[in-house]
Amino acid sequence: MIDCIFCKIASKEAPAEVLFENDKVMVFLDINPINYGHTLVIPKDHYKEFHEIPDEVNQDLIVVTSKITKAILDSLKPHGYNIFTNNGRSAGQAIMHCHFHIVPRYLNDGFKFRPYPKSYKKDELKQYGNLIREKIRI
Ligand code: AMP
Ligand code: ZN
Repeated sequence: MIDCIFCKIASKEAPAEVLFENDKVMVFLDINPINYGHTLVIPKDHYKEFHEIPDEVNQDLIVVTSKITKAILDSLKPHGYNIFTNNGRSAGQAIMHCHFHIVPRYLNDGFKFRPYPKSYKKDELKQYGNLIREKIRI
């Protein structure tokens, strides 16, 4: 049995400010928010990274993420929002139970993703496109 705080929140062994739940997903407030109302959407079952989540769970995750985003927009009236998921230590994942962040954003709130550091040299865009296209299985 893995010792996972998000599994404990999903099973109600640990407290959280829960906004919504159904049989597959749970939604609660992040305790250390980028902005107030920063929300996490998790699968109730333990999957470490996004690519491990089965399609039928992802269907619930994306639809619930969309509905909760609308509730955040209606209630808090932010200027915009970010939705993201950190996967793996290199990507900054701290809790190893996959989750989506929904972050309400305000003009000049000081939180920064940009500038992105890279640009493609000649032919590299096509080369990277080819590498990934060859592996797409849908
Ligand atoms: P990350 O794994 O880097 O994508 O982010 C993990 C997020 O979980 C951070 O934003 C934390 O503030 C948040 N977090 C950690 N523990 C809890 C908890 N017990 N309840 C709510 N949010 C949490
Ligand atoms: Zn877990």
